[in-house]
Amino acid sequence: MVLEVKWAGIDFGQCLLSGSRERTYWMIGDACKELGEPEFIEERCHKWRLMKEKYGTWSAIKEKRRPEIVTYVFDDRPAAKDVFPLVERKYFSLADGAVDALKYLVDQGIEVSMVAEHRRTLGPIGTDETTRFLQSSKIIKYFTELITPQGKVNLRDGAIDLKYKGSSKETESGGTMYDILAAELLARGIKPSEAVMVGDKEWSDITPAQKRGFKTIHYIGYLLTGPSNADYTIRHFSELKGIVKGV
Ligand SMILES: [Mg+2]
Repeated sequence: MVLEVKWAGIDFGQCLLSGSRERTYWMIGDACKELGEPEFIEERCHKWRLMKEKYGTWSAIKEKRRPEIVTYVFDDRPAAKDVFPLVERKYFSLADGAVDALKYLVDQGIEVSMVAEHRRTLGPIGTDETTRFLQSSKIIKYFTELITPQGKVNLRDGAIDLKYKGSSKETESGGTMYDILAAELLARGIKPSEAVMVGDKEWSDITPAQKRGFKTIHYIGYLLTGPSNADYTIRHFSELKGIVKGV
C-alpha cells in the first residue's frame, strides 16, 4: 500500500537533522581547541559523558539542560557560551538522502512542512537554529511552513502565526499541536488521512498524529527510541520514494 498524500510534515531533530554519538565528543574537543585549552579535552569529554548518563540523551541535554554544557562541562568559561554553539553548528548535517526525498515529495505536488519541537520564542527566519539550518543547507525552498508549539512560521514570507503557541507535540501533554494542524489542513481541503507525519519519536511524531487520523512514518535512521504503530518504519530517506506519492 502506497500512502497517497497532499501534505507531509517532517520532524527536525534526529530526523531531518542527523547526528552521530561520536560527533558530540568531537564537538567538545573542537570547542576546547577553539578556546585554546586542548589540555582539557579529555576531562571535558568525561564530564560530557557523565552528563549524558545523567540526562539520558543528547537531545534531552540540548533541549532542557543546555546552560550546564557551559557551567559544568566547560567549567563556566564565559567564552564557551559563544564558541560551543558555533562548533555545534559546524557538525549539524542533513540526514542521508534527505535532499532527494524532499525534491521527490515536492515534485509529487506534496506540500512539505517542518514540524519541530521548539522551546524558544520564534523570531524572523534565520534567527533560530531550525530556520538557520534550513537556510544554510539550502533546503528551505522545499518547505512551506515551520510548525512548532511556539507558533508557525510561513517560510515564504516570514509571517508568524501564534495560533499554535502553548500547544504540545508530545502525547504526555496532550499532543494538541496536531489538533490545530488537522483543523487547519481540513479548512484547506486536506483530510488528515491525506497527510503524513515523518519523525523519530513515537510519543511526539507518531502516536499523537495517528490519533488525529494522520498517516505516519517512523524514521529510525539515527535513533531507535522504541517501537510504534506507524504505517511504515524507514531507516533511510530514500525509502520515502517507494511508500509516499502525491494524490
Ligand atoms: Mg525528532
